[in-house]
This record gives sequence, C-alpha cells and structure tokens, in this order.
Amino acid sequence: MMMEKQFQNSSYSVTAEPIRVGVLGFGGLGQAAARVLAPKQQMLWVAATDLKGYAYDAAGLNPDHCIKTYHSQGSLGYLEPTGILSNQTIPDLIAQASVDGYFLALPNLPNTFMADVARKFIAAGWQGVLVDALKRTSAVEQLLELQEELQAAGITYMTGCGATPGLLTAAAALAAQSYAEIHQVTITFGVGIANWEAYRATIREDIAHLPGYNVELAKGMSDAEVEALLEETDGILKLENMEHADDVMLELAGICPRDRVTVGGIVDTRNPKKPLSTNVQITGRTFEGKISTHTFTLGDETSMAANVCGPAFGYLKAGVSLHQRGIYGLFTAAEVMPMFVS
Ligand code: NAD
Repeated sequence: MMMEKQFQNSSYSVTAEPIRVGVLGFGGLGQAAARVLAPKQQMLWVAATDLKGYAYDAAGLNPDHCIKTYHSQGSLGYLEPTGILSNQTIPDLIAQASVDGYFLALPNLPNTFMADVARKFIAAGWQGVLVDALKRTSAVEQLLELQEELQAAGITYMTGCGATPGLLTAAAALAAQSYAEIHQVTITFGVGIANWEAYRATIREDIAHLPGYNVELAKGMSDAEVEALLEETDGILKLENMEHADDVMLELAGICPRDRVTVGGIVDTRNPKKPLSTNVQITGRTFEGKISTHTFTLGDETSMAANVCGPAFGYLKAGVSLHQRGIYGLFTAAEVMPMFVS
C-alpha cells in the first residue's frame, strides 16, 4: 500500500487536468501521433492541421474519424462537424485553439520552414510548449538564433525531440556519464516502411542527404521523380555522414565537439521490417584510462513512428513542467530528460 502510494507520488501528473495537445502536420507522423495519444490520460489531443485545413475540439478529437477524413477527402478541413478549410491553417488554428503544447510534425521543406513556424507562434503572442523532430543541424541552428525571442515570448521550445535527433541523442548524453572524455558517437539507423507515400516529407528530406542532392532539389521533386529514384535503388536509401543535429546538440550539451558525432543509416521504403537494428555507440575514456564503448540498440519491432512520437510527447510533458515553472526559451533533447506520459 505504502509502495503504491509512493509510486503514485513519484509519477505525478504535471497538471491535474490533462495537457491539451495539438499536432501540426497530419501526414505519417501526425497520424501516428494521434494514435499514440489516444490511450493517454495525461494528454488530450484537441487540435490538428494539414496544409489545407484544421480541426479543433476542446473535448478531444477522434483519431479514426480524423484519419479516415484525411485519407478520403485530403484534408482535416472536411471533418464533420469541427473541420475548417483555410489557406493559412497554422495562424488560424493558433488563434482559435486553447492548446498547452504543439508537436510540429511538419515537413521542414524548405530548410527554414520550422523556424518560420516558430516565428508565427511568437508573432501571435501565443504562450506554451512547442516540440519538433527536426533533423538537420542547420535547421536547429536557425532555432538557436530565436533563443531570446522565444524566451521573451514565454514559449518553451524543445527541439530535436524525435528518434535521431532525439531518443538516440539523449541516450548518448546519458551514456557519456561513464567517461571522462568522449571520443566518438556513432548513430546508425534502420528504418523500414511499407510505402514511401505514408512518409513523403521524411523520404524527401532523406533524399536531400544523398550525394548530388540537396534540400531544394528534393523539395522540387515530383512524386513520380521520387518513385523513379526509388525504383533505381530497389526502394533502399543508403545514407552516410548525414548533416544531423545530433552533433550540434551534443556539442551544446558540452559532451563532445560536433566532429566526433556521425549519423548514417538505411531506409527501406518497401518493407516495414527494419533493414538493420538502430543503435548508438558511445566511445570514450574512463577516469582510469580505459577506452570503452557503450551501445544502445532499439528493439527491431519498434517502428520509426513509435520512436519519434513517444519521445516527442515525453519532451512535451517535460516542456510543460518547465513552462509551469516560468522557464522559457530553447532546449534540446540532449539537455532535458523526457518525462513518461501515462
Ligand atoms: P508527411 O509528408 O507524411 O506529412 C506532412 C504533413 O504536413 C501533411 O499532412 C501536410 O499536409 C502537412 N503540411 C505541409 N505543409 C504544411 C503547412 N504549411 N501548414 C500546415 N500543414 C502542412 O511528413 P512526415 O513524413 O510525417 O514527416 C514530418 C517531419 O518529421 C519531417 O520533417 C521529417 O523529417 C521529420 N522526421 C523526424 C524524425 C526524427 O527522428 N527526428 C524521424 C522521421 C521524420
């Protein structure tokens, strides 16, 4: 009885009321986010947008209903009875919805898009928590430039809070504690998805890392061009030495210089089975002078969506607890522990 009471106390909910959550972007990750949130008691999913419309219901949105409408009609704006069509969905939703924290499951195409979205929240005078799953170093650096503006606006912004960057960067920050000096952090990811169209932005942004491509080129590719490229490679994207923000995040957290962090992986766009086990290896020297490597490997059964959306909401909850204490500004997944959402 006593034990149970202590456990309840230690896993306290940040607020007595559930945290009201919005999801910006309703593609692969946005839809998975709705499903991840459905059984949660400490969070209530109340708002979502896509490019053409948005839906807000203070009593909570129904994921099945929203996903069905998005697939059959192409936008949440057609959702009955709460959907609204708009050509400026993000500012309209910010103005209408009462939300404590948003997960930004948006494409970062162009590479300045997420920083522009953050500016929209600042311009609207909105206060609360924002969480992104940004990938590129240069995209996170743009947000770093907004540090003071976010602070002044009363926004707690958690960046790089997906899988990589995110879960694996945080694991590296934790593993680093065994060492006096960190020599190398190597992140290797395996992603398997049944069909690239379920995650168009993710795949376009991955293509942008291939030799001969960049963000502008990948953004400009038609679906047919993406399919033709994937046809040539049997649906496989092999990515090496990616520009990934795990490096700047570990550098900012004081763990190691960014040139000691490397990220690469394999994406299979035709098979939900992972082509390899996602892992992060952290090599360093202990205080006794021993060189060793810690390895953290994700279970092969866990999907990209599970490993992105779970951490994103864990960081959203951590962000809410900071925000409630009046702590605003930009934080990365390497400097704050995510909190588990029940
Ligand atoms: P997607 O292409 O499946 O969906 C994007 C959604 O955003 C769509 O619903 C679209 O309508 C909406 N959208 C586009 N422009 C918009 C706008 N201006 N206003 C409102 N909505 C808009 O995307 P996805 O594959 O789910 O990826 C989302 C992001 O997550 C990408 O940037 C991707 O790189 C990132 N990601 C991060 C990680 C990680 O581990 N950090 C892993 C996977 C994906």
